[in-house]
Amino acid sequence: MTRSMSEAGEGTRPGPPGRKVRAIGLLSGGLDSTLAARVLLEQGIEVVGLHFSTGFCMNDHRRALGRPDEDPKRMRNEGLRAGADLGIPIEVLDAGEAYLRMVLNPKHGYGKRANPCIDCRIFMIHGAADYMREHGGDFVFTGEVLGQRPMSQHMQSLKLIEKECGIAGYLLRPLSAHHLPATLPERLGWVDRDRLLAISGRSRKEQMALSERWGLRDYPQPAGGCCFLADENFAKRFHDKKQHASPEEIRREELILLKVGRHFRLGPTVKIIVARDEAENNFLGRFASGAWRFEVLGCGSPITLAEGEPDDRQKALAASITARYSDRRTEPLVEVTARQGGREEKLLVPPVADAALEAYRI
Ligand code: SF4
Repeated sequence: MTRSMSEAGEGTRPGPPGRKVRAIGLLSGGLDSTLAARVLLEQGIEVVGLHFSTGFCMNDHRRALGRPDEDPKRMRNEGLRAGADLGIPIEVLDAGEAYLRMVLNPKHGYGKRANPCIDCRIFMIHGAADYMREHGGDFVFTGEVLGQRPMSQHMQSLKLIEKECGIAGYLLRPLSAHHLPATLPERLGWVDRDRLLAISGRSRKEQMALSERWGLRDYPQPAGGCCFLADENFAKRFHDKKQHASPEEIRREELILLKVGRHFRLGPTVKIIVARDEAENNFLGRFASGAWRFEVLGCGSPITLAEGEPDDRQKALAASITARYSDRRTEPLVEVTARQGGREEKLLVPPVADAALEAYRI
């Protein structure tokens, strides 16, 4: 559904002398950020949405894998989709290396999984503030709802985020505004506080009613559903990685590889990743340069990639695990080819027994 200004019920809102009020918002494309933008549009405020590409979005990853039978909805960029529904411009910003460094060493720690939600919010709001300074804008808004999410949306967290993001007084949360002190844009009359909302808590009833009212029905599942950092399996691999290397040593591509395949730790400095299907084989293949790569030739076989430098025992184990997931898993002995750069080795191994396998699984 697209929306025109005439539907907003109000024209341009009087703002800074001689021009329209311009709001810069974080737009993940989830229901809350979409509604927050819509609440401001209702007042005739110009809205620009920023969507951060963090490297941990599940939809982006599915798009990179490109499985032919994947549901297109699960591969789309929800920020762009929400922008189209709202009829507003969206800027997609690469969160880059600085975001990865924050994820590996968050000042305010992790939530239940590997999610550094407080630092993540501060990072993005900082980015929005920079964008506002560079491209023009009067304040920043988010779709945060007081009390909705355990880590980042308590009153204390909301205050902390505002304090640390460097734009105190210019950060508006339209959905929970009436639970929070009035911001400067409200006090200056750029935003009509009476038309902001007083939503709080985990129930999403009010948001659903609003989405019905405004015809915004096409949105993804709420709260962290698209973020690998909040995923249980990803978090196990992430914390395993951190236990075996200091944050400064962990490379970007090692974090990317936590998103694919089955992971097994063979030693303190060696782990392997076993692809689960052809799409993951292709994905792993892109990261094979310089790493040992195992495969059963001539049959359906996963690609297994080793991180670190495996010794002979670990190579045999990696081969045995590769054989276990190949089409020849029921045979007593399987020949597995191991390659690294120009080197090649043939390993004749029995497929590992499932009971033994579990001891290595991350
Ligand atoms: S769930 Fe992920 S994207 Fe969302 S705030 Fe937490 S870390 Fe950031």
